[in-house]
Amino acid sequence: MKHIAKSVLASLIATVALVGCGDKDDHSKSHAAVTPRQASSTTQVATTEHTQQPTVDEARAFIQRAEQQLATETVRASRAAWVAANFITVDTQKISAEANERLTALTVALANEAKRFNGLNLPETLRRKLEALKLALTLPAPADQAKTKELATLASELEAMYGSGKYCKAGTCRDLGQLSEILATSDDPAAMLDAWVGWRTIATPMKPKYQRLVELANEGAQALGYADLGVMWRSKYDMPPDAFAAELDRLWEQVKPLYTSLHCYVRGELNERYGDQVVPPTGPIPAHLLGNMWAQHWGNIYDKVKPDVPDTSLDLTQILRKNGYDFTPGDRAQELAAAKKMVRTAENFFVSLGFEPLPKTFWERSLFLKPRDRDVVCHASAWDIDNKDDVRIKMCIKINGEDFVTIHHELGHNFYQRAYQHQSPLFQGSANDGFHEAAGDLIALSITPEYLRKIDLIDQVPDNENPVPQLMRMALEKVAFLPFGLLVDKWRWQVFSGELSPATYNDGWWKLREYYQGIKAPVQRPADAFDPGAKYHIPANTPYARYFLAHILQFQWHRDLCRQMGYEGPLYKCSIYGNKEVGAKIQKMFAMGMSRPWPEALEVISGTRRMDASALLEYFEPLKVWLDAQNQAKGRQCGW
Ligand SMILES: [Zn+2]
Repeated sequence: MKHIAKSVLASLIATVALVGCGDKDDHSKSHAAVTPRQASSTTQVATTEHTQQPTVDEARAFIQRAEQQLATETVRASRAAWVAANFITVDTQKISAEANERLTALTVALANEAKRFNGLNLPETLRRKLEALKLALTLPAPADQAKTKELATLASELEAMYGSGKYCKAGTCRDLGQLSEILATSDDPAAMLDAWVGWRTIATPMKPKYQRLVELANEGAQALGYADLGVMWRSKYDMPPDAFAAELDRLWEQVKPLYTSLHCYVRGELNERYGDQVVPPTGPIPAHLLGNMWAQHWGNIYDKVKPDVPDTSLDLTQILRKNGYDFTPGDRAQELAAAKKMVRTAENFFVSLGFEPLPKTFWERSLFLKPRDRDVVCHASAWDIDNKDDVRIKMCIKINGEDFVTIHHELGHNFYQRAYQHQSPLFQGSANDGFHEAAGDLIALSITPEYLRKIDLIDQVPDNENPVPQLMRMALEKVAFLPFGLLVDKWRWQVFSGELSPATYNDGWWKLREYYQGIKAPVQRPADAFDPGAKYHIPANTPYARYFLAHILQFQWHRDLCRQMGYEGPLYKCSIYGNKEVGAKIQKMFAMGMSRPWPEALEVISGTRRMDASALLEYFEPLKVWLDAQNQAKGRQCGW
């Protein structure tokens, strides 16, 4: 896959046009933060022009104008980004970058202008909109034209350094995709170590640029009234910034025992495979052996650690192929029909919950297959072009079980976007950023054998199925991810607050990785190493806590909806397919957009205003019991 450094706009202002998806293939991410790439001459004017005490009417007029302007620029930028992602040429990239710059400049100017209404006693809706506007940027520029330009340049340079990063040795250069492939498939610790160390060489030169980016962005955040950029990011959750940090800690403490059992089991299995020299039986696991460049998903080592029990779990890829989701190689029309059939089936799930079918334009305008005659960004993404009904997906669908699940994830974004389209522009977004990512995964959790039987993909549900293999596959993805999902922003918060200095950036990173993940660097890191920079979201300045939240929320919603249906069995067997009552709740929550604080949105589905990871624990309970028995039988010392 080709990397497009800064082509795609993921507008992090409330009017989300595109939702780049998941965090699996970081070498082709669509999460481009809106960065102020262009100095806005209106910024200074706006902040100095008005000195008199403003009125509520002025605030209302200002917001009305801001929403109109943002809506116009967002649609323009979305169209440009869609074309750029679907037809990669020098010109489309340029056109898209220019549209992005205009949108960013406008947002910076409006956010600064919004400050003049600080301290004014405003109606709640208006206050909320002003707040959303001020918090819209993830990389706020200082109110100084030269510094704004400098920050914009640093942001593009860092992203380009990541995008074009290659590890060259003995005349051969390899990119992230090739190096990741080694970690995913090799069984040779030396080869994996080389790939792991090699990729991190690309980040070393980023450090001085990143340090300066932090200084400037902090200055921008301070100008908007926040102590530092970390505080600004944590202010997006309808609670005091410190309370949000405490929430994340509370959720982590809930899931930590499950993670520790999984960690213990995986470390033990890898120890048996590679020996004490490579993987000691106690302490943190060396980071290069878990199948992924950042040890954030461990699914690639399933075969190395798979449970020694009969695996009767269904093979979704085979099931699809047997049921007409198939094509003769080379028959393009057939292939397209099969891909669309997968999307139709996913759409049908949402329709079974009471959602309106997708509009005709979705089918006409989406990209379903990798074109044979041009370059496109293949990374799956969901789009809302006009903030009305022009929703689309862009995917290079392969006929397999993994893509079938991804399609549900993407359509979750589309149905969410359509549901909040009637909200005003600053409220067109999910209740918090974790909600958008959790939406489609909630549906994907319902792709159970019973569901497959109901839609006639299988004749009967296998009985006495041992859930351990299937739960292990899921846990290596979704449970293994949790501590990483938490620590990326923990590290950034420490950087933005000054708790970590450039001299301690790398040590601080590894302290967190060891503390939360129980992972260590496989070799002593050089003094100038900048390992956080080898993870896309750091140079691209994309917030990360949303992924942690999404992993918690999807299980909470799943459990609460299943119980409301009267379902009493194990959660991994529950499917909400066809239940219009729970479907109505999902629709109601989606339709709120971000017009109300997220606890209210959560309450619609879960009946509580508190996030709760106990559902995730309940879902994986049979696996936890099995892991603990294994670890105990083998006398393993868990923890690190
Ligand atoms: Zn997504």
